[in-house]
Amino acid sequence: MRETMRAWVVNRPAPADQGPLALVERPVPEPGPGEVRIRVLACGVCRTDLHLAEGDLPPRHPQVVPGHEVVGLVDARGPNARRFETGERVGIAWLRHTCGACRFCRSGRENLCLAPRFTGWDADGGYAEYAVVPEAFAYRLPSGFDEEHLAPLLCAGIIGYRALRRAEMPPGGRLGVYGFGASAHLAAQVARYEGATVHVMTRSRDARRQALALDMDSAQSATDPPPEPLDAALLFAPAGMLVPRALRALDRGGTLVIAGIYLTDIPVLRYEQDLFYERALRSVTANTRRDGEEFLALAARIPLRVTTTPFAFTRADAALRDLAGGRINGAGVLLMSA
Ligand SMILES: [Zn+2]
Ligand SMILES: [Zn+2]
Repeated sequence: MRETMRAWVVNRPAPADQGPLALVERPVPEPGPGEVRIRVLACGVCRTDLHLAEGDLPPRHPQVVPGHEVVGLVDARGPNARRFETGERVGIAWLRHTCGACRFCRSGRENLCLAPRFTGWDADGGYAEYAVVPEAFAYRLPSGFDEEHLAPLLCAGIIGYRALRRAEMPPGGRLGVYGFGASAHLAAQVARYEGATVHVMTRSRDARRQALALDMDSAQSATDPPPEPLDAALLFAPAGMLVPRALRALDRGGTLVIAGIYLTDIPVLRYEQDLFYERALRSVTANTRRDGEEFLALAARIPLRVTTTPFAFTRADAALRDLAGGRINGAGVLLMSA
């Protein structure tokens, strides 16, 4: 058994092009009671990792290993861990602990738990050769996808799915999607599969082309209005300036859902223009395990086409730079084998 492993840590939060991450040698973590250790095969590069590395999200402890879209093989089981067999392929996602006792946990809303812990923020994540997780928060993964295409499902996919559910789309409704990156391109396919008309608004010409290739109904620039009023809209771009535009694109009674964990400031809203006629503005905070299980089952049934840009594990810093610069098509994924 190896004693040390390679891991990327957030060394000093700074803009991505100043190299906030460092590649270090760390002891291989031991799984505690109820935990499993996985040998990492792939880890998705999420925008939250970038916000953490750049300091938009304050670090919860120094030198944390980022990464919360982790696919790997169970390699060791801690005391009383029996849910998975050694060698089984499992996923680790953002939510890794909830208290189980607060009013939110007891009412099926564990995503709002008062004492949660998150992978790659409170505890070390998957930018490493090994990672541990409480087995109750790991996911069984569907067949039909390799690790590169599974990884983005674990945060980008699940959060996009929760955002879509929060939008409470009417059957056959009209959905607007602002931004068309990792999360958006998956949520948009779920919406299409369920019968929605989907209009995509994004500044990237490549992303507009990709949206049309994935059968979306229209694609235009981020600041252009959609071709028809919307029953709901999902905002994935972390740009608060798009909130009033997206609200004005809604039909009466429509809902705008902000899907990101981070958003630049929202400009002043005008009540009559932006909110009246029962237009609603909602946020999304993490997800429940049930969201994750529902989404992974649906991903296999559709089946989702997951667009990825692979990076060798040793190029995690380059992956964050490319994400910051808008140069990643679909979802960036670190691959151990590359
Ligand atoms: Zn709780
Ligand atoms: Zn994420």
